[in-house]
Amino acid sequence: MLLDISCLPKNKILCIDMKSFYASCECVDHGLDPLEDYVVVVSDKNRSGSVVLAASPKMKQDYGIKTGSRLYEVPRRRHIHIFNARMKQYLEVSMKITKLFSTFVPFEAILTYSVDESWITLDGTEKLHGSPMEAAQKIRSAIWNQFGLPSCIGIGPNRFISKVVLDVYAKKQGVAECTYEEVPKKLWPVPLREIWGIGSRMEKHLNNMGMYTLGDVANSSLDRLRKRFGVIGEQLYYHAWGVDLSPPFIDARAFSQKSIGKGITLLRDYWRENEILTVVLELCEEVAKRAREIRKVGRTVSFSVRYSHNEGGFHQSITIDTATSSRCKAERSMLKGNIAGTVRLEQPRWYGLHRYLLHVLCCILMHNFEFLL
Ligand SMILES: [Mg+2]
Repeated sequence: MLLDISCLPKNKILCIDMKSFYASCECVDHGLDPLEDYVVVVSDKNRSGSVVLAASPKMKQDYGIKTGSRLYEVPRRRHIHIFNARMKQYLEVSMKITKLFSTFVPFEAILTYSVDESWITLDGTEKLHGSPMEAAQKIRSAIWNQFGLPSCIGIGPNRFISKVVLDVYAKKQGVAECTYEEVPKKLWPVPLREIWGIGSRMEKHLNNMGMYTLGDVANSSLDRLRKRFGVIGEQLYYHAWGVDLSPPFIDARAFSQKSIGKGITLLRDYWRENEILTVVLELCEEVAKRAREIRKVGRTVSFSVRYSHNEGGFHQSITIDTATSSRCKAERSMLKGNIAGTVRLEQPRWYGLHRYLLHVLCCILMHNFEFLL
C-alpha cells in the first residue's frame, strides 16, 4: 500500500496511563513512594493463591512480580508491603483524575478507556497548552502534583498510534510520540503480542501465516488478511499502516443516558453456577438502582461476558414487554430468557479459567415517570 499521509486526519491525541495504578494509590495512602517502594496489591491477602492485581515498578524490576503473579510468589520481606485491593477507592481517584483532565480539554475530548487509562484529544488547545509534547508534560506534572501518582503518556495523530506508542515506548520512558511518518521506524519492528488489540490467539494465527511483527502485517496483503479474518483483518492491516479513523471526539449526547451499564472484572476464579448468578444478580440490582435514581425505565437488558486469557466471550440481549427499572423484573427477564440459558450453556467452558469480565448492560430506552415503581 502506498500511503498518502496528507489525506489522513492529523489529530493531537494523548493516551494517558497511570503507572501501576492500584499500587501507586496504596503508596500515596500509606506514605510510601510509588517509584521507590516495594508494593503489591492482591485480591485477598489471606489466600496464598491470590492474584497480584498490581505491583510497583521496583517490585517488577527487582523481584519479577507483576500483575497476574500469585501471592505465594511474593517474597516475605520487611520492605515489601502487601495490600488488599480497594476498588472503590481506586475508582474514586480515577474519577478525580478525569476531572483534572477536564481542566485541560472539554468533556467531549476525554475518553476513559479503563480505570487507569484515558485518551484525550488536544486539537485546538495549542494556544493554551503548547505542543502536544508540552501539554503532555503539563498534564503529567499536574497528576503528580495533585495526586502524587506517576503516569506515562503516548502521543499520536490517532487513538491507535497513541496507545501503541504508550505501551511500547512511553511505559519505559515516560512520554513518547509517534507521527505517521515514523510508523515504519517506530512501530513496524514491534512484536505482534505487544500491539494493542492483538491477543494471543490472533498472534498464533498470524505467526502461522508467517507474520511476527507489525511490519510483517503491513507488508502482507489486505486481501489475504480480509479473507482470513474478515473486517478484523482489514482493520489490522490499516492499523499496521498507522491508520485509525475512529472519531477523536465523543458524542456528548451518547452520555445523556441512553443506557445504563455496570461491569465487573472478577478477582478470582468463578466457576460455580450459583456464584456466577449471584454476581449477575448483583449487577442487575446496581443497574436497576441507578435507573431509578435518574428516573428512567428500560426494556432491553443486555448481558456479556469476556473470558480471561483472550478466550473470547459472548453477548446476549433480551427485550421485555413493559419497560422496567425494577431489579426483580430485570433479573427475571435475565433468568427466564435466553440469557440464563446462555450462561448455563457456556458454563462448562468457564472451568479452569482464572478471571472473567462480566458485563451486564441494561439499556434504558424510555423515560416514562408513570412506570416508576
Ligand atoms: Mg497502568
